Amino acid sequence: MNKPVAHSNLGAIDAAHHLHPFSDMKKLNADGTRIIHRAEGVNIWDQNGKKYLDAFAGLWCVNVGYGRNEIAEAAYRQMQELPYYNTFFGTTTPPTTLLAQKIASHAGPTLNHVFFTNSGSEASDTWFRMARVYWKVLGHETKTQVIARKNAYHGSTVAGASLGGMQWMHEQGNLPIPGIHHIGQPYWYAEGGDLSPEEFGLKVARELEAKIDELGEENVAAFVAEPIQGAGGVIVPPETYWPEISRICKARNILLVSDEVICGFGRLGSWFGHQHYGYEPDLAPVAKGLSSGYLPIGGVIVSDRVADVMIGELGDFYHGYTYSGHPVCAAAALENIRIIEEEGLVERVRDDIGPYFTEAWRSLADHEMVGEAVNVGLMGAVQITADKATRRRFEKPDDIGTLVRNQCVANGVILRATGDRMLASPPLVISRSEVDQTVETLRNALDWLKDNRP
Ligand code: PLP
Repeated sequence: MNKPVAHSNLGAIDAAHHLHPFSDMKKLNADGTRIIHRAEGVNIWDQNGKKYLDAFAGLWCVNVGYGRNEIAEAAYRQMQELPYYNTFFGTTTPPTTLLAQKIASHAGPTLNHVFFTNSGSEASDTWFRMARVYWKVLGHETKTQVIARKNAYHGSTVAGASLGGMQWMHEQGNLPIPGIHHIGQPYWYAEGGDLSPEEFGLKVARELEAKIDELGEENVAAFVAEPIQGAGGVIVPPETYWPEISRICKARNILLVSDEVICGFGRLGSWFGHQHYGYEPDLAPVAKGLSSGYLPIGGVIVSDRVADVMIGELGDFYHGYTYSGHPVCAAAALENIRIIEEEGLVERVRDDIGPYFTEAWRSLADHEMVGEAVNVGLMGAVQITADKATRRRFEKPDDIGTLVRNQCVANGVILRATGDRMLASPPLVISRSEVDQTVETLRNALDWLKDNRP
């Protein structure tokens, strides 16, 4: 017989049965998990009724904010009409097809096709195969190697984690798989030495050219990068970086893949990150803000260059997921994009709340414990430093970030720590006073660190 589950027992039940992603389960079970019950706007509430301002939009994804009944209703209507049908073997559903058109309408003139997945990780696996297939069909059988970046994050599947540049992920599961190579990241603060940010941006971009030379141009299929490296610490590249990367990919005839899973759907004040930086990718994986996280859906936006080969010359692409383009997820995503359009959220980030956030967030740069405070639109990082003048970092960067993050959470604001960088990525609907609250809470946590530094 099923026993009723009392809410007061959830912590114990969770400890007994639920294995969490990216969590030290022994520690989590000892500390107790925070159970989130409900949410509205930019706020979430836990099991004790405590309210938090979620300045991280869940996991970089709740772009339109919580509590949008329109999305729930669109999903409900679609579930009643057609809860599921597949897109294999010559069929589609109305919201799936309309969503592909809608995404293409915002993605730039040469990006007109979409292959649907359920997540960003699956989008990584999808473009990885697609890039290799593309070159094979064109007769370039050896063009299989892919270049990615250290400290990048492209998901947790085997290809996603291999493409990512997190060594501690590679150590679990014998990764990366063969054929993936990692070059440096444009992290000027930590790795730029005496170079100016502009000089450093060019230097790390040219690591791509050196790697292509080492591997042989005839062996390289693609280069992948996030417009702004997200999980790696919101690494905002110097202005010189992307033009040089784009030039090299064109000159050396390799596909440029822009991982838009975080930067897509308005976060930088543009529909996509590549538009902010002014380059045109050949493939662009998306997820997260596509549905604002209301239902799981992702995809790869495919350029005409690649699609022409896939459509015109390949025949079957033996790849896909039972839920590729799931009609209910697609209906939710369409409604989410309608909200972004009708409320002008991209323009709001570009012209209004983004500039306001920029001024407030960057004011933290004057704090004794802060090395740099950077952002584009509503994606920001504060670098904690042990010594402002020399850019020296604390010996145990992870501990420092965790200490500051815990202070913020205790004071009702959710921010994320990656090592010694504090990251913000709030819903695009955040108000000015909520921005002030976020920055003030972080400033207080940094004051606390100053008085309690290890
Ligand atoms: N790519 C980037 C840039 C991401 O930030 C993430 C997730 O954080 C992914 C891919 C993987 O997406 P998912 O967690 O939906 O599989």
